[in-house]
Amino acid sequence: MKTIFATLCALALVSVSACAEDKPAAAKEKAMPQPEIKLTEEDWKKRLTDEQYRVTRTAGTERPFGQVYEEFEKQGEGTYYCVCCGAELFTSKEKFHSGCGWPSFYDASTAKNVLERPDNSHGMIRVETLCRRCGAHLGHVFERESVSAATPTKRRFCINGVALSFVPKGGQAPKLLEVASSAVEKKKEEVAKEAGVEVRKP
Ligand SMILES: [Zn+2]
Repeated sequence: MKTIFATLCALALVSVSACAEDKPAAAKEKAMPQPEIKLTEEDWKKRLTDEQYRVTRTAGTERPFGQVYEEFEKQGEGTYYCVCCGAELFTSKEKFHSGCGWPSFYDASTAKNVLERPDNSHGMIRVETLCRRCGAHLGHVFERESVSAATPTKRRFCINGVALSFVPKGGQAPKLLEVASSAVEKKKEEVAKEAGVEVRKP
């Protein structure tokens, strides 16, 4: 009898500790939606230039009033896509001249691919903007300041130009990066090889 009681107690303890471990992870997932596209750091490095990688994957900031900004200022009507995964982020309709030295928009595009989350780094309280699809760092969004007060939304999306891929009106949208990562592709190739089937590369 004693043994059964001891076993039951041990089981109860195991289930209690298992629950305790599960809770924080579940809460964390709920707080921050996970990006659909997940590539390894190596895979991102292969796809992006050094500057694109530094800004989008390590939350870097490009130099203000640089060449990318000058090009942005000259661009006409069109759509801005995520340089990492091809998701639509902004359009020229929401673009405005803020004078801050970085591409500025007063709203995200109707595609709703821009995610906002609190950022307390560098001793500042800011709101970071990211690509909802791949988690690329885009920049920050500001409100309650003189520059954004003049916009229709009272907001200023201050975005790194290297995080964006511009397509003029009437142009072809970039191909969306597929959800499957290179690890999945490699596995597919291995399976196909075992089965003696040739994998056709796009
Ligand atoms: Zn993206």
